Amino acid sequence: MISVDGTAPDSTWGDGTRVVTGGASPAEPGQPLIPSPVFAAPFHLGDQPVGTADGYARISHPSIRAYERALAGLDGGPVVAFPTGMAAISALLLDFLRPGEVLVLPSDGYYTTRTLAANHLAPRGVEVREVPTAGDYLSALAGAALVLLETPSNPGLDVCDIAEIAAAAHREGALVAVDNTTATPLGQLPLALGADFAVYSDTKAIAGHSDLLLGHVACATQDLADRLSLWRRLAGAMPGPFEVWLAHRSLGTLDLRLGRQAQNALALIPVLSETPGVTGLRYPGWPADPAYELASRQMRRHGGVLSFALPSAAAVARFVAASHLVAAATSFGGLHSTADRRAQWGPGDAVPEGFVRFSAGCEDPADLIADVTAALEHALT
Ligand SMILES: *Cc1c(COP(=O)(O)O)cnc(C)c1O
Repeated sequence: MISVDGTAPDSTWGDGTRVVTGGASPAEPGQPLIPSPVFAAPFHLGDQPVGTADGYARISHPSIRAYERALAGLDGGPVVAFPTGMAAISALLLDFLRPGEVLVLPSDGYYTTRTLAANHLAPRGVEVREVPTAGDYLSALAGAALVLLETPSNPGLDVCDIAEIAAAAHREGALVAVDNTTATPLGQLPLALGADFAVYSDTKAIAGHSDLLLGHVACATQDLADRLSLWRRLAGAMPGPFEVWLAHRSLGTLDLRLGRQAQNALALIPVLSETPGVTGLRYPGWPADPAYELASRQMRRHGGVLSFALPSAAAVARFVAASHLVAAATSFGGLHSTADRRAQWGPGDAVPEGFVRFSAGCEDPADLIADVTAALEHALT
């Protein structure tokens, strides 16, 4: 009999089984197979002792517990979910850093995280050190309190060695967090590699349908999770039941979606690598990628995100206009293939004008290849 009670994921189960069963409720006759969202701010208190049942949804609610249980089974540690990826990252940085402490961040990582550190942590006396993802992290760790890695980095898709950096950071007494948004917990397990936290924008592949914002932090210990959960309660950063229910529902197909996205990304590589005018192609799952060897060692699988450059912003505009399947949109990891010309967002990412972060969707490979091939031809001639 297949257990769907969600209490103890079987360690021998494959990715498909784990995402389908994660976070399920006990099988009680007459109850729905899949939990419905519970819409409530206050709950009836009756005469129960305080804390023995749901009382107020900013503290906890049934939908968030089901979602966090599902993610905890994938990440391998207790999870605290937040309304966006940035709410998760800001909770971590604001709760775990004090004036005089040192934060180490990727200089080529998610731009908004660096802006948050520059605008709100540095003025409060936190020393912010930036290191390129593929650069010399080990020399930047002296006296660090918190080290945030992002691998593969967004948008450049560089990779760093989580286990090696985490071991060195722990010798300095620092906590280590990995922004694991690009990889997802099926692609890479930062906690198993020695990190204290894995942080995510669930807005991307985890929810995967481009219809909601959400984030989470997976923690190596219950103490760390309790501390973040108290922060969430005080800061008021509790996601609502509808969003987490939708994301939980979407999580069941994560294995299938990533599989098709990776198939599409790999099918696009020969087209992109052999088209004159396309430069700087990166995909850590491609044997010719500079990060391939390290990525193959520490990652379990790859998704659909790749990056490359066309000669100009105008060439990217022609590419997107000529394609019938690729939408110009930021974000990534959704059902639809999307192209994001990063330079349009300003100088935050140090990339050329024609740099594209491409997210392969779940379309049929033959259709996507034909469409991208024709659009490239149009853009480059
Ligand atoms: C999108 C993203 C974030 C921020 O997530 P939101 O859900 O948009 O707040 C953080 N880190 C990475 C790597 C991202 O791609």
